[in-house]
Amino acid sequence: MKRFISPLQTTARVFAHIRLKNIETIYPFCVPPWHSDIDSIVEERDVAADYAKRHDADTCRIFVDSSCRNGKVGIGVCVDQNELLCTMVGSTSCIDNLYGELYAVKEAARLICKHLNNLNSATQIRHRTHGFTIFTDSQAVVQSLRRPYQQSGQSVIQKIFRLSHSIQSRTGVPLHVRWVPAHMGVPGNEAAHKLAQRATEAEHEPRKLDLIKWIVIAQNIVYLNTEYEVAFHAFTGGKYTRQIDQALPQRHTRMLYDRINKQKASILCQLRTGKCRLNTYLSRIGAADNDQCKCGAMDSISHLLFSCPEWNFLRQPMKEVAGPRWGDLSYALGGWTDRKKADGNLLDGRKDKWKPSIPMVDATLQFAEATGRLSYTYDTEIITGPSPPGRS
Ligand SMILES: [Zn+2]
Repeated sequence: MKRFISPLQTTARVFAHIRLKNIETIYPFCVPPWHSDIDSIVEERDVAADYAKRHDADTCRIFVDSSCRNGKVGIGVCVDQNELLCTMVGSTSCIDNLYGELYAVKEAARLICKHLNNLNSATQIRHRTHGFTIFTDSQAVVQSLRRPYQQSGQSVIQKIFRLSHSIQSRTGVPLHVRWVPAHMGVPGNEAAHKLAQRATEAEHEPRKLDLIKWIVIAQNIVYLNTEYEVAFHAFTGGKYTRQIDQALPQRHTRMLYDRINKQKASILCQLRTGKCRLNTYLSRIGAADNDQCKCGAMDSISHLLFSCPEWNFLRQPMKEVAGPRWGDLSYALGGWTDRKKADGNLLDGRKDKWKPSIPMVDATLQFAEATGRLSYTYDTEIITGPSPPGRS
């Protein structure tokens, strides 16, 4: 017995193989409401650069930066221009630059706490009356700390908040995080940038981290597309569609369908699959007596579009758009063909660079719609029977 597989079942089967191992956990809430805020500031470019260049004896100024190179994410932490930390965080196959930037702020906060615990007396960090300011050149980091939400790198943000809470409870001053524009000649930022770059040159393999959400999504999209392509080529049905469009499976079908209304989509679908209201198909499924058109020829899609004399008066606009490719079914229906020109080059060009001709598909649809041969019409005669005499 052949069982029908529902769309839900098909989806479940595909998603059963999706790789979700080692993905980060993102909680509905990032920080508890009683946690003190971090003083996060983004100012105008020039104002922010001037502030970061200005020496402030009352504040301990820590510059952080992250760098993605050689498949690695490295961070640098400086106190003014003095190097404090240069370390590789992980591989770009697990995390991105934003994660690195957040991690750099977290490391700076951790070093401040370590200093406050008097565990590392050799550090450059000194507590000043105005407390600690961490400078980052990532606005996304400052925004994330100002308004944390369900986002990638949430675990790092949570740690920053915990460390900031601890710093404030000991010093009485909140932790400040300020944006500093990159490449504006701010010495601390330049030093942290160089340090972060150096961190990516480390020889050893990056340690394994939880994968951040969008990297998992991107990896799975590639995986699903490959799987889908393999399944598509393994399936033997749909010969007509594969013949008129040899670029399948590709995204151009969305380009064709997404921009048209339901009526036109129904017509295009009939023309591209061959499962249509024309007699060649209807006779095959036993819904018509023969496969002939009114004119006596075989009632096929090519016949309707290019040669049935009944519709000659509607064809001119389509002919004008098609030009020398008049009569080419693939071209008329937005498909790619591997046919070659006289000079040996591909008629449609390379498959990966090719795009369907939208004006041609539009002209074809306009013609097919005007003939009414592929449109569904509600037949009152069949449903209600002939109208009683005197009422029509
Ligand atoms: Zn005909």
